[in-house]
Amino acid sequence: MIIKVFGKVNQKYIDNVLKKAGKLISVPKDLTIYFLETLSFCSYINLPRTMQNKVRQKCMTNISFSFIFKKRKIVVIHLEKNLEKNQDSLVGLLIHEIAHINQMEKGVYIKIYNDYYKVSQRNLIKIKKLKYNKKDLVNLFHSISITAVFALKDIYANNYLIEKGLVNHLLSYYKMEFNKKVCPKPFFYKNLKIAAKKDMSIVKDVVDFQLAILSATLPIHKTRKAKELINFIEKCYSINIQEVSEKMHELVNLYFKSFKNKDFNKMFFDCVFKEVYKLLK
Ligand SMILES: [Zn+2]
Repeated sequence: MIIKVFGKVNQKYIDNVLKKAGKLISVPKDLTIYFLETLSFCSYINLPRTMQNKVRQKCMTNISFSFIFKKRKIVVIHLEKNLEKNQDSLVGLLIHEIAHINQMEKGVYIKIYNDYYKVSQRNLIKIKKLKYNKKDLVNLFHSISITAVFALKDIYANNYLIEKGLVNHLLSYYKMEFNKKVCPKPFFYKNLKIAAKKDMSIVKDVVDFQLAILSATLPIHKTRKAKELINFIEKCYSINIQEVSEKMHELVNLYFKSFKNKDFNKMFFDCVFKEVYKLLK
């Protein structure tokens, strides 16, 4: 494991976090982990030129992420202020990112992309039939595709951690994650179609929001800790999470019924696009 720390970061704190994470999950020996104090250190990530720009761009979005490029396994952690104080959350974030690497190595994400391409065309054709500006529909379809792929990856990574019994660490990560997110304006589902006619980005916001909550809560649902996270998210968003899960009940049911099914990914994408279609129809 290679550790690269850039910025004013307490090295001892990082060492402790790594030690803790190493006890919880097996860390690939050839993994490089970057800890960055600020965005300005994104340019310190050294990669072949073909990959460099893409990774730096992603890094500038201030989101921690992980990827494998030609056998190089890399995790990038942005050390925001609240992570510098909350060791458990940082451990949770780190094992979440390492779980992503683990899932990539197993080929889980290749399968996600393949499954996406198997069903995307058919769903796009259906959505393009809606009575909206065609270009807007295509843009919406692509941006929701990206969110849905991310959500699915998170579901797999989190599921892996839950199966290892690491729910408490995952919880402290998500509590921090939802705490830092600005609570979105309340969604009025009944008026959604009227609003979407004027501004389709509302539909994107709604689906993004639903998928973000679901990718965090679904794998945890299997444990007794789900209530804790749900109460926390409810407080933050001052929404009734029940409403979200009712709107997305097909996805929730699908997860519980078919997560281990080989066609789960395809069913998941179909389900998301069906929801989008229903919102706009
Ligand atoms: Zn993730």
